[in-house]
Amino acid sequence: MRHQIDRQIQIIEFPGFHYANCNCLLIEDDVHCLIETGFNESELEDLQKLPVQLIVNSHGHSDHCRYNYIFPESKILMHPSEHAMVSSGEAYLKEFAFDKLVGQEWLELFLQAMHYRPIQVDGDLQDGQELCTGRCRFQVLHMPGHSAGHCCFIFPEQGFVFTSDIEFSEFGPWYGMVHSSVSDQLSSLDRLAAIGADYYISGHHASVVRDPGGHRLRAYRNIILERQRRVAKLLYGGHSTVEDIARDLPIYRRLPNPKPIFWAYELMMVYHHLVYLEEQGYAGHDGHTWFPTKTGISAEQLSI
Ligand SMILES: [Zn+2]
Repeated sequence: MRHQIDRQIQIIEFPGFHYANCNCLLIEDDVHCLIETGFNESELEDLQKLPVQLIVNSHGHSDHCRYNYIFPESKILMHPSEHAMVSSGEAYLKEFAFDKLVGQEWLELFLQAMHYRPIQVDGDLQDGQELCTGRCRFQVLHMPGHSAGHCCFIFPEQGFVFTSDIEFSEFGPWYGMVHSSVSDQLSSLDRLAAIGADYYISGHHASVVRDPGGHRLRAYRNIILERQRRVAKLLYGGHSTVEDIARDLPIYRRLPNPKPIFWAYELMMVYHHLVYLEEQGYAGHDGHTWFPTKTGISAEQLSI
């Protein structure tokens, strides 16, 4: 489903939520540009007829780069922190820590389900970089947290930000990779809120998100802080390893299927919350053993 939002720009909306697809933008200008290629298969035939010269990927997750390979003549841009994970299936799995956390039998299945294909990146995206396709201009915002090189794109004339995986679906905030970060994710959300865009284009689910009072962005942020409080409570209640804390499912509460995959996500996100507690001075660790650094108080008394 496509919506024209400007003379040059169309949203290619993916209906519903699917783990291997996303909402994309098509810019038909002097340069034909796609932002993301995780569109629905039904769009392929039409899009293949276009002379797409530029693909801009917000990050390296396969649901955002799925059909890059359909446009072999196109130049592909991505933040340098994402280049390693798109270079090989092995590197991709390693960035998810699946080489350590998931049984061998799931690895190939995961790559297949994600429609993983290695990508040859032609150039970098950097914070503040301006991209011009002719009449249309947009700027790169490096917004890490979800992944280390996750980028959003601001369209100043049109008044929106393409927020990619700062997305407002039920899937919720996700920062389960080796180089994800809770503090980066929170900073990115604060930066996005300060921009005060007229609307957002989310990478998943309903594409256009209007949030004039900032309620949806705050609710999204609060989900992360609620998880942070649950992890802190478990740590201050005597749980001392990532596994021990994750067993209480402070992130997902109920583990979705396939459970071995979401268990790995739970472990990684618990780990990143512990790192954030450490950054705030509330936790320390000795190897794999984590401990509270404020004594004589409960987790509720921490200002998280
Ligand atoms: Zn992603």
